[in-house]
Amino acid sequence: MSDLLRKDKQFVWHPFTQMKTADVPLEIISAKGARLYAADGKSYIDANSSWWVNVHGHGNPVIGEAISKQFQELDHVIFAGVTHPTAVQLAEDVIQLLGDPFEKVFFSDDGSTAVEVALKMAFQYWHNSGNPKKRILAMDGAYHGDTFGAMAIGQRGYFNEPFEHFFFDVDFLEFPTELNSEIELKKAEKLFESGEFAAMIVEPLVQGSAGMRMYSVDFLEQLVRLAKKHNVLVIYDEVMTGWGRTGRLFAMEHCGVRPDIICLSKGLTGGVLPLGLTVSTMRIYDAFLSEEKTKALLHGHSFTGNALSCAAAVASIGLFRQKDTNDKIDNISASHQVFIEKMKGNPAIDSIRSLGTILAVDLKVSDSGGYFSSIRDEAYRFMLSKGILMRPLGNCLFVNPPYCIEQDDLESIYSALESFVSNHNS
Ligand code: PMP
Repeated sequence: MSDLLRKDKQFVWHPFTQMKTADVPLEIISAKGARLYAADGKSYIDANSSWWVNVHGHGNPVIGEAISKQFQELDHVIFAGVTHPTAVQLAEDVIQLLGDPFEKVFFSDDGSTAVEVALKMAFQYWHNSGNPKKRILAMDGAYHGDTFGAMAIGQRGYFNEPFEHFFFDVDFLEFPTELNSEIELKKAEKLFESGEFAAMIVEPLVQGSAGMRMYSVDFLEQLVRLAKKHNVLVIYDEVMTGWGRTGRLFAMEHCGVRPDIICLSKGLTGGVLPLGLTVSTMRIYDAFLSEEKTKALLHGHSFTGNALSCAAAVASIGLFRQKDTNDKIDNISASHQVFIEKMKGNPAIDSIRSLGTILAVDLKVSDSGGYFSSIRDEAYRFMLSKGILMRPLGNCLFVNPPYCIEQDDLESIYSALESFVSNHNS
């Protein structure tokens, strides 16, 4: 064991990791583009973009220069009572990209905090309007982060069981399929008719952590229309689906309806620095305007509006404005389709699907699947042995690579997936 790994074992507590039984971590010392380089000289394809964040590849010079330039000018400053050009630039860019009806940007630190802020905006909107509402509608299988509010609106289970008694009440719709969509829409309408719902929150079109589960534009549009009809605020958690992942810049662009609040993070800074944004309409913002100071959104973080993160985000948005980035997204989407055609009907596969740059393969398993499915560790190790860092979600093997990935690297991922599936079959 290397000195670094010994010290890691001595001092570090890793996320989502049973430290007693976990494999020794991979020792990554550098990264460039879609590749990670390990201390032992091996390199790995970053098939899941380092927890789905890295959209333009590692070490992107445009983002690097923007951060470095920003550091020379202003690294960080308190964001209450103070503003700075890069935060304002980012807010303006984001509002321009999102379009109507979004008008106001609130800054925080990551995906979970972007969601917490959205929940607080929704609850306080009703409180300030003199009509407090307590109920939230979410979707079975949802994942919105690991802070308490975000956990409360997520799938209940072993991830948050120790904390469940602290959660506020949330109603969950079943995950929509062709079979149950009508029933779930009726259920939503009945709940909304109570007049008690402050908001509904969804991961639009793709539930990430549930195993890249995809549902139809039609269902989402109908659900949002019902919410609007009954004056329920709509929150889209685009933390994972944002920044090109679904083939459009935001998943909501596939639909003809818009939410009232949208949460952004992950690819926002190109995946280089932490930052969360909660973007709202004027209607929500206006409900916080008052002569009374207590009606303000009394929420903030030390690093709100961090200038380095904002500079990375402005640079990343600049890259999204280039045709080249969009061509790369289209190429990945098209390559995924070819692979799907090839693999369709394979008896070891339960389901294979893609949307934009996300490709997901659910393997048939004898256990109940789920996050701790034994196939998960087997697949993880197999992929590593092929020079690919891929972190399956239970029996769901998925690819959401940096957009700069070389075609050869994509083909290597497909070929490793194919061999794993064939071995699994035999
Ligand atoms: N929402 C969604 C849809 C996510 O996928 C995630 C993270 N995977 C989060 C929120 C939480 O983001 P973070 O890990 O940055 O707190």
